[in-house]
Amino acid sequence: MRQPSRIPVRLKWFRSAPISRKVMLSCMLTAGISLLFASAANLAYEWMTQRQALTDSLETQASIIGANAAAALLFEDSHSAAETLGALRADPHIRAACIYTREGRRFAYYGRDASPAALPALPREPGNRWERDKVLVYRPISVRQERVGSILLLGDTAVIQSRLWVCAGLGVAVFTLAFLAAWAISIPMRWTVAGPILALADAARRVSTERDLDLRVKKVHNDETGFLVEAFNEMLGQMAEHTKELLHLNRELESAKGKAEEATRLKSQFLANMSHEVRTPMNGIIGMTGLVLDTDLDAEQREYLNHVKSSANSLLIVINDILDFSKIEAGKLNLDRVEFAPRRVIGAALKSVAVRAHEKELEVICEVDPKIPETMLGDPVRVNQILVNLAGNAIKFTERGELLVSAELTAETDGLMELCFTVADTGIGIAKEKQREIFQAFNQADGSITRRYGGTGLGLAISSQLVEMMGGRIRVESEPGHGSRFIFTAIFGTAPAPRRDTAESRRQALEAASLNKSRVLIVDDNATNRRILREMTLRWGMRPEVAADGLTAVAELERAASAGQPYGLVLLDTHMPGMDGFSTARRIRGSRKLSFAPSLPQVPILMLSSADRPGTQQERQQLGIDGFLVKPILQDDLLETILGLLGNAKRPEATAAAENEEPPALRVLVAEDNVVNQRLICRLLEKAGHDVTLAVSGRQAVELAKESKFDAILMDIQMPELDGYEATRAIRASEWACRRKTRIIALTAHAMKGDRETCLCAGMDDYVGKPVRPEDLRAALIRASKARREPARDWDQKEAFGIRND
Ligand code: ADP
Repeated sequence: MRQPSRIPVRLKWFRSAPISRKVMLSCMLTAGISLLFASAANLAYEWMTQRQALTDSLETQASIIGANAAAALLFEDSHSAAETLGALRADPHIRAACIYTREGRRFAYYGRDASPAALPALPREPGNRWERDKVLVYRPISVRQERVGSILLLGDTAVIQSRLWVCAGLGVAVFTLAFLAAWAISIPMRWTVAGPILALADAARRVSTERDLDLRVKKVHNDETGFLVEAFNEMLGQMAEHTKELLHLNRELESAKGKAEEATRLKSQFLANMSHEVRTPMNGIIGMTGLVLDTDLDAEQREYLNHVKSSANSLLIVINDILDFSKIEAGKLNLDRVEFAPRRVIGAALKSVAVRAHEKELEVICEVDPKIPETMLGDPVRVNQILVNLAGNAIKFTERGELLVSAELTAETDGLMELCFTVADTGIGIAKEKQREIFQAFNQADGSITRRYGGTGLGLAISSQLVEMMGGRIRVESEPGHGSRFIFTAIFGTAPAPRRDTAESRRQALEAASLNKSRVLIVDDNATNRRILREMTLRWGMRPEVAADGLTAVAELERAASAGQPYGLVLLDTHMPGMDGFSTARRIRGSRKLSFAPSLPQVPILMLSSADRPGTQQERQQLGIDGFLVKPILQDDLLETILGLLGNAKRPEATAAAENEEPPALRVLVAEDNVVNQRLICRLLEKAGHDVTLAVSGRQAVELAKESKFDAILMDIQMPELDGYEATRAIRASEWACRRKTRIIALTAHAMKGDRETCLCAGMDDYVGKPVRPEDLRAALIRASKARREPARDWDQKEAFGIRND
């Protein structure tokens, strides 16, 4: 890790100073520092030599005076001694001198300006002593090796100091001159050294601000700066080249982007057209086949037509897959975010594949985590599509065993929840090395499978893209020969409380409480089914027991009855090896009549059958079967049926009734230009007893709508002259005048996402996609007949007629 810089602030300033200033400062600092050292050395030398010279001179004077004054000391002639000292007057360096007797008494004195009292105390030993502004030289006076006295000289250092001051002054003068010279020299140096660098800096600035890559810096020197200039110029040249290439590339990209956007637009347009063009004849094929199947046919004809119908339905699935895949590829597939009931979506997905599963005698089992709320926010159509695809594959690749679809709440945060779905089968399985590839488009685990089972290899690619769009992941766990488990997660929004179904589920929960302690016998050969049914009934407070076959079940019922703890309910599977559900029911009901068997009470039997073998109503009545549910068994259906059977609540027949409900005869205007579709729709409506008027164009539809009153108008969209949207607007405009409103139902092969909304925006009330399914048409007409009975709302507002105020 880099340590933070510890550069002093002043040095930081130096670092960021302009380079020319740096050069100048460097020159001047170098000159200044060298001169400073030279002057200091000179001063030191001067001081030392002057000092030595003064000491030598004083020592010499002391020796001479001492020798001359020795006789005066011997003869105690202080006068002549004083005269001798007087000779020192000529020496400016001597401030005072004093001769002492052997005993240390002052004998003779000379002083230039000082009195004898100013003399320092006598040193103990002979020698020299330097003080701040003076020097003392003390010497003995001897005659033939015998000391007769001593002499003290007081030297003056002022001369030395003044010399030193002169030297220092000279030094300062030289320093100043040298400094100025260095400054003068640094000016051209600045331009020699910093010039090319400044030129480079200026060029770099211009390149970055003006983007001028044709700029070049002039090479002035052949040194490193010259090399730098060359490299810089070359770099600019290369940049100019690259920029030209980039600009070229950019132009190409721009045009490619434009082309791609145009291609995407055309592709979407093509998809919408193709969807429409394919659905229109498919509507004819499927619809007409349905009509013919409703007529008297012999067995062979019926079989052939059933093949036509199932082939057409398969073709529609393939077309839908291809369209979906293309939409995903074109980035045009968007998810809805609406409130939906997950249990209902899972149930509907399973019910739609259950018939195929039961044809192959496969168990279809559904398990939904009770923690999953009644409603949530997401795209139910796409969840259904993934489940139908995975469950469809599971059935396709499984010959015997079961299909289990389960959903679990795996995570919940503020406003979001993650669900984990599993679709498990007991089929052929998938080899390890193929498990990744199958999620790619047009990939199949085994090419030969296509021939055997059919399929485009698009289903999983679409499913995995949809799962990703739902914020989840999909994976598979499988072993060849041991089945496959497709597991996917998806994120949903929490539905705003209170939920519509809450009151209903609370009611059910309360009623479930009254099931408390009811003993229930679950009879099913499939272990998973037994487990799930057991868990469900346990959750409702019942006391379940299980039996894997009919014989065990009958034995258990008899045992419990004779022990005085009879069962309150039997849940009986129809498909069981050995003794099937019907035979078991017969035995249960029959055993009462056998004199040797203990009498079984009239225990209610709820038959759990597959769609292909529900038995006839009469058969069920004869066997005393109290209720039956078609597999897959959904929790809510089972609870409702049990509640009905045990007498705690009447089983509401409303849903079943709604499914079979027929709308009353209505006056219907059909606006359709395609001859086959005209015949099909008119026939479907007439068969249901409606009074049909046909308009072969949009314009005719508008005229007929003005002339007479209809209960509903079925409006095709793509028509010559006036299309369905324009026709609707015209009808609404004339209706607005008399505040009357006919229900307009779009009946169109525009079945892409957003088409329904476009129709509703154009002023229509309902939407049925082509190929038209009779049950969808019937449901739309039921809604129309209900709407007819409702009081008029907002009909005094233009918006209610799809008319904009502007
Ligand atoms: P399709 O089923 O139309 O071929 P999919 O994308 O749905 O296309 O599946 C791709 C391939 O993955 C299938 O052809 C099959 O080889 C394999 N596969 C998918 N589901 C299963 C399954 N449940 N069991 C075995 N193989 C499967």
